[in-house]
Amino acid sequence: MFTVTLKSGREKSLLRRHPWVFSGAIARLDGEPEMGATVIVRDSKEKFLAYGAYSPQSQIRVRVWSWNEDEKPDPDFFRAKIETALDYRLLALANISDTKPGESPPTTHHPSPTTPHPLPTAYRLIHAESDGLPGLIVDRYADTLVMQVLSAGAERWKEKLADLLLELTDAQHIYERSDVDVRELEGLPHRVGPLRGNPPDEVVIAEYGLKFGVNFAQGHKTGYYLDQRENRLRVREWVNGKDVLDCFAYTGGFTVNALQGGAKTVTIVDSSGDALALAQANIERNDLPLEKVEFLEADVFQQLRKFRDQARQFDLIILDPPKFAPTISQAKKAARGYKDINLLAFKLLRPGGILVTFSCSGGVNADLFQKIVAGAALDAGVDAKIVAHLEQSPDHPVALNFPEGAYLKGLILKV
Ligand code: SAH
Repeated sequence: MFTVTLKSGREKSLLRRHPWVFSGAIARLDGEPEMGATVIVRDSKEKFLAYGAYSPQSQIRVRVWSWNEDEKPDPDFFRAKIETALDYRLLALANISDTKPGESPPTTHHPSPTTPHPLPTAYRLIHAESDGLPGLIVDRYADTLVMQVLSAGAERWKEKLADLLLELTDAQHIYERSDVDVRELEGLPHRVGPLRGNPPDEVVIAEYGLKFGVNFAQGHKTGYYLDQRENRLRVREWVNGKDVLDCFAYTGGFTVNALQGGAKTVTIVDSSGDALALAQANIERNDLPLEKVEFLEADVFQQLRKFRDQARQFDLIILDPPKFAPTISQAKKAARGYKDINLLAFKLLRPGGILVTFSCSGGVNADLFQKIVAGAALDAGVDAKIVAHLEQSPDHPVALNFPEGAYLKGLILKV
């Protein structure tokens, strides 16, 4: 095993158990480890710090597997990590069901052959760094696991991880969605397709009594936005009799919930016609009233201006844009984008109206996001109160040593 030796003083973040070693922190590398190979990380005095996976092309040169010298990454190590992740979900998802709140759960879906406790049909099983498995995302949709491999280290262990995932869960198939931009930074090609079993192209999942289609090959991320599950339910509870505007709607997660909650009308805006077609399919799948819905294939930035010029008003507006700033370096430009749409949304709300606004940008933290939204309210000339702070669903945990894991932040505001 090769050794990476850090510059003096650069061991601090590792001692706090932050799992990344940047290239600039490295003084010396003995040998030439292959892509994703396990290396030992030592401080400038040669003291053991961690085992990690080596990424020769990435700025994040090493991602830590283990801080314990006795715990070398091997199949048993990965088995234990997956078991820990499953155990966490049994706790965190205990109150999350496929059925409507208050209905008794007929869920018969079991996470593993040996665990009798039911979990919902769709949830995130592995959330990368936050589950101690840097670069690995695994989402479960019914009998299929969708695996997203983001780093050289996870890529190196991919086949073994796939075997372990089938051994430790009662899932039947694995589909791989390793087609994200960060793979290029790692020097890895994209790969999409079946990895184990014979995964279907599409499944229908249940979310608090509603049905959603998930297409593994074409859907965003692993096929669906599991991270907004609880926030969508929140919206469902507040829309009765209201005129709702769902911006960046994708396949209509918030829209379907708004219709279920008795919204008077829902206006749904997305720049992708394909997404809007899937949203329509999801509305029909749930027998919800399509005649209440206005579909607009448009750019949200432009559409909100159009509404302003038409003096259109709404009672509840949802803003769930894509990542404007993946990293801190893009935060400034992202801030302008967030301010723009939030300012316009404030202007389109009737007095007493509600804004549900999100940022999933890693480069914009919750404090900064709240400041941006406060600036938008000020410029729009409205007073608003925070009704609730929102975050990602609990199957996307945040480890205390990896605050970057808290990527989704949201606010519910009443003007
Ligand atoms: N709210 C969704 C997830 C939103 S994903 C859910 O709960 O499932 C972001 C969506 O924004 C994508 O569907 C993408 O097509 C759309 N989008 C990105 N940029 C846009 C723009 N400028 N105007 C309109 N839609 C946009």
